[in-house]
Amino acid sequence: MKNIMFIAPPAAGKGTQAEIVVQKYNIPHISTGDILREISKEDSEIGNYVKETMKNGGLVKDEITYKLIKDRLDRDDCKNGFIIDGFPRNLDQAKEYTKILDELGYDVGLVIYLDIKEEVLEKRITGRRLCENCNTIYNINDPKSCPKVESTCDKCGGKLYQRDDDNLESFQNRYKTYVEKTKDIIDYYKNMNVLYEINGDATVEEVADEVDKIISNN
Ligand code: AMP
Repeated sequence: MKNIMFIAPPAAGKGTQAEIVVQKYNIPHISTGDILREISKEDSEIGNYVKETMKNGGLVKDEITYKLIKDRLDRDDCKNGFIIDGFPRNLDQAKEYTKILDELGYDVGLVIYLDIKEEVLEKRITGRRLCENCNTIYNINDPKSCPKVESTCDKCGGKLYQRDDDNLESFQNRYKTYVEKTKDIIDYYKNMNVLYEINGDATVEEVADEVDKIISNN
């Protein structure tokens, strides 16, 4: 199984797609956003720093992110493949990621780019809700992914919450950073011949089929 990286703008559905791959191939989903959200709950200097930075839509300092990625990838459950999500976010991080992978004896694997328009994302972002217990993602603005009972997870009955950074202002800030930085990353992986592009503005199932084709053909 090749390692998989998803590149996509905020709220493009990469978390959902990553979970589908995780279920099918039984590999860990390593999301820097999820790890940082856990750290942000800690009542400590670093916890408060991460919480504030995330709330404003800024990037957490590299020294924190690099360490958490390296420690996480070094664990045994990553030896048969993993999905990396939310990292790298700029060219410096991409170059550092190559170094980390080399040190750990891994390849970058497949880089899957979900391309999707800003207007579509703005509509999605305000409706996104997550289960605080099992992390399942819903969208209250979309009848297809809306929970059956308001504010309650269909799968486990957990309470649904809205991320602090899922507001229009924070989204626009994150989107701007994303556009500025992503071009370089895309070029970097294109040059390495590992980039695969998918139109993310299709249904979850259609995007998942495309993702699966790429994985199966490699
Ligand atoms: P995400 O869940 O990927 O949308 O990430 C949520 C937030 O976590 C981002 O807006 C950043 O504040 C922080 N974050 C996630 N990944 C990184 C990263 N690779 N480098 C720096 N900050 C990150």
